[in-house]
Parts: sequence; structure tokens; C-alpha cells
Amino acid sequence: MYGLAGKKLSHSFSKSLFEAKFGKKYPFRLIESENISGILLKVRNIPELKGFNVTRPFKQSILQYLDNIDNLAASIGAVNTVKVTGAGNERKMHGYNTDVYGFKEAYKNQIKQLKNCTALILGTGGAALAVAAALEEMKIGFLFVSRKIKDERTISYDKLTGDIIRSHNLIINATPLGMFPTKDEFPQICFSAINAGHLVIDLIYNPPATMFLKKSESQGATLINGLEMLKKQALKSWQIWGLI
Ligand code: NAP
Repeated sequence: MYGLAGKKLSHSFSKSLFEAKFGKKYPFRLIESENISGILLKVRNIPELKGFNVTRPFKQSILQYLDNIDNLAASIGAVNTVKVTGAGNERKMHGYNTDVYGFKEAYKNQIKQLKNCTALILGTGGAALAVAAALEEMKIGFLFVSRKIKDERTISYDKLTGDIIRSHNLIINATPLGMFPTKDEFPQICFSAINAGHLVIDLIYNPPATMFLKKSESQGATLINGLEMLKKQALKSWQIWGLI
């Protein structure tokens, strides 16, 4: 059995993606809980679970409960894929990050089209950290935009001027704002500074066109949603679980 662990999962396409690939060969279970301890308890009570993906808001908090973490996931500080080995007292959980691969594979061709690319990553959660690692691999400079200032790589929304937006031609929404069912929300940035030279990526795929993408579209930007990343990161997870 395989699954997906997160706080609220009604928006997720992961189960349907998995079932479209594997049919009834392996059952897939949604593991929902308000907190990480609830997730761990549920995982403990599913002895047949061989692997699961982790989604918001547990990509960072799960790390301390894993037996092993691969180098990439450890360096980012975020895990979205867990492989479970052994049984009983010998059961072990191994953490990986396939969001980095997913982001890069999904969007590298469009990103390569941008001249002198520099990026703004909205949010500093697990997905944002994976995007940052992918951009670093692609040698693209970036700033995080956050509600709180952590370091010199981060600016707050109230300091995000039109000039800063104009000087960063790649903008990535890595917050959950606008995701089903809160479809009317969007990150508060100065959309009038977005123009036809911008590539705007929203990691959200449900709904396919978020308010964030719609507001950027009206400024003439090129838009992409998170569906392709979802598919690519899933493929990599299935490889890690030994299913393909
Ligand atoms: P997360 O850990 O909950 O973090 C999201 C970040 O968004 C937070 O750290 C926070 O950053 C910011 N944020 C949260 N609520 C906010 C609010 N009310 N106003 C402004 N900012 C807010 O979530 P995640 O796991 O990183 O996922 C983020 C989004 O990416 C989700 O919608 C998820 O579904 C999507 N995602 C998609 C894929 C894909 O394959 N397409 C993969 C991964 C994630 P600050 O505290 O710094 O402001």
C-alpha cells in the first residue's frame, strides 16, 4: 500500500494520478491529520504501507521522525517522499525530496527562454525550499518573499516594490493561497508591475487557473500551473518506491 499524508487532502490529484498508473495493483490511502503526531500514529497503524508522499504543512516537520534522510532532502530541510522498509520493530522510514526534480523537469525549458533570469519565490515552506534548490542547480538567483524576515535572501511583502517585481522576470507562487477550496485568495503583490516579460508559475494545480495566475494573465505574463510538477515529482517518487 502507498499513500499521501497531509493536513487537508481534498484538493489533491495524487491518488487519481497513482490509480491512473497502477489501477488496483496497489491500494493508495489518504492519510489526513491536523498535526504531525496524528500522521505518525496513522502511519504506524498501517503495517502494509510501503511508501507515502508528504504534503503541506508537514514537509519540514516530518524530518525529525525519519530514520534516514537522503543528502538532497537533508540539505533543503524538506521531505515529500518517504519509503518504508522492514516490519514490526525493524520498520524504518527513509526520506527523500522529489519536488526539486519535479520543478526542474517541469519548467526548465520555459525558464531557459528567459534572458538574465532572476526569480521571486513567494513563501518559505517546504515547496519554496525545493524550488530554491532547483533554481540554485540552474544557477538562477532568487529572493524569497515572506510574511517574516529570516535572512538576507528574504524580503517582506510590504518591501516588495514594483521595481523589484519588474527586475525579477520569474515569479513562483509557493504559498497555498488560492488553492481549492479557498479559490478567491492570492498573494498580495503589486500585479500592475507584472508584464509580458514575466514567466509566472503557480505550484497550485487545483484550480488550474488560480486568482494569482488570472491577475498575472491580465498583465500579459506567460503562465504555468503546478500540474506538470505534480506529475514529474510523482514519477520520481514511484521510482524511489521501486514501482517503475
Ligand atoms: P507550507 O509548508 O504550508 O508552506 C507554504 C508557505 O506559504 C508558508 O511557509 C508561508 O510562507 C506561506 N503562506 C502560508 N499561508 C500564507 C498566508 N495566509 N499568506 C501569505 N503566505 C502564506 O506548504 P508547501 O508544502 O510549501 O506547499 C505550498 C503550495 O505549493 C501548496 O499549495 C501546495 O499544494 C503546492 N505544491 C505543489 C506541488 C506540485 O507538485 N505542483 C508540490 C509541492 C507543493 P511565509 O511564512 O514565509 O510567509
